[in-house]
Amino acid sequence: MSTDPDISSFFPFSTIRSGQRELVDDTMTVAKNGHSLLAHAPTGIGKTAGVLAPALQYALEHDKTVIFLTPRHSQHRIALETLQHMRQKTGRAFAGCNIIGKKWLCNVEGVENMESRDFIEYCKSVRKDDRCPFYNNTFTQNDKQLRQRASTHIQQLSGNINTAQEVKQQTSEFCPYEIVMQLLRFAKVIIADYFHIFHPTVRQSVFDRADLQLDDCIIVVDEAHNLPDRVRSLLSSQLTEYGMQQAINECNAFGFYELEETLRQIHGELRELLDSHTSVQDKKYESFVERQTLVNIIEQWDSFKEFVVDVEMVADEVREHKKRSFAGGFAEFLRTWYEGESGYARVIRRKKKHHRTEYQIVLRCLHPALNSAKVLNESHASVLMSGTLTPLEMYRDLLGVEEEKAQLRSYQSSFHAKQRKDIVVNTVTTRYAKRSEDEFLKLGWYI
Ligand code: SF4
Repeated sequence: MSTDPDISSFFPFSTIRSGQRELVDDTMTVAKNGHSLLAHAPTGIGKTAGVLAPALQYALEHDKTVIFLTPRHSQHRIALETLQHMRQKTGRAFAGCNIIGKKWLCNVEGVENMESRDFIEYCKSVRKDDRCPFYNNTFTQNDKQLRQRASTHIQQLSGNINTAQEVKQQTSEFCPYEIVMQLLRFAKVIIADYFHIFHPTVRQSVFDRADLQLDDCIIVVDEAHNLPDRVRSLLSSQLTEYGMQQAINECNAFGFYELEETLRQIHGELRELLDSHTSVQDKKYESFVERQTLVNIIEQWDSFKEFVVDVEMVADEVREHKKRSFAGGFAEFLRTWYEGESGYARVIRRKKKHHRTEYQIVLRCLHPALNSAKVLNESHASVLMSGTLTPLEMYRDLLGVEEEKAQLRSYQSSFHAKQRKDIVVNTVTTRYAKRSEDEFLKLGWYI
């Protein structure tokens, strides 16, 4: 494969390192062929610039958008700085921005201390009832059109490389998250978390706002060895007995007495299910349970879908008065339980809590390809890169990349062995559980 003659005008640094040059070439090749590159590339090779430069060049020439996904906020900053360098070097005024969690962009005071799930419910509820002044300043109340002042603000930011935090600092009148989401439409490169593209509902919301389809995008996944676990956890969920009891209390407190009674009976059925599937005597503390078992329990009272809608009504009412609704959590769990038909482990567990036993029902996604295959195979092209992506075939299969489209590559370190000194010190650790003042002092001394 040969290096594209123009890549040097995009590449943000004066020289391209040896292993990095191959990465640049391979990225350009998969962009042209619409394939997926799985790149095992050692630390220090310069993966971010090595992939962003050719991906952006291709995107600008073929009207595509690069979506760079990384689980770390520090990496957002590095990617945005790389884009700034490329903008200066090419003299081309492309725009870029990053998305971070809504909670960190919210202008309402005190939300930083809320659990993420509670915050999502809170924000949903205040928007629905027109109780957020920042949201109301951003959109008209009836038809949710952008207000003129918000539109002018977006236009002012739209040609830049914006960090989400900078947008927040410049946005005191509107909802900063909504402003960031509006800026996606102008961006040639969007930097985000895996969650924004690999969670099906969130992806739809991002794509609707950015006016994108999967095949408009070159998806770049940084630290891709983390992706299978992240995708599994995005599709997993659980119901606890405590959560169920709180949902019952909410029905009572808000006057949904009939539903309260139904939930009490379902709670009783779940306790029976726990006793029939587990046994302390036999030391059997958990057991598989069928999808249909829970569906059948619910359908003794109502159709499953109707029941979820009823529980959501309670949640809506609760959220008018409180930031969190347990009924909302229950409805969300039921929906996930119903939608995931295969590729999941469904388990009922006996959990000890304050001298009593409670049930916990867990829905665990086992096969990340259920979700990742669509993203990676239907996007225009994708690059999965990491310093520890071996065996490459395993990651290809786990994530469901079509074999004929997968380019598996391992790159040599750009550094000569003589430039490296490896020293093994087996008397210090950076393990989180062991971190202490003493350990830091020891580490500092060795360095
Ligand atoms: S709409 Fe925006 S400002 Fe209002 S609560 Fe939600 S994130 Fe915060």
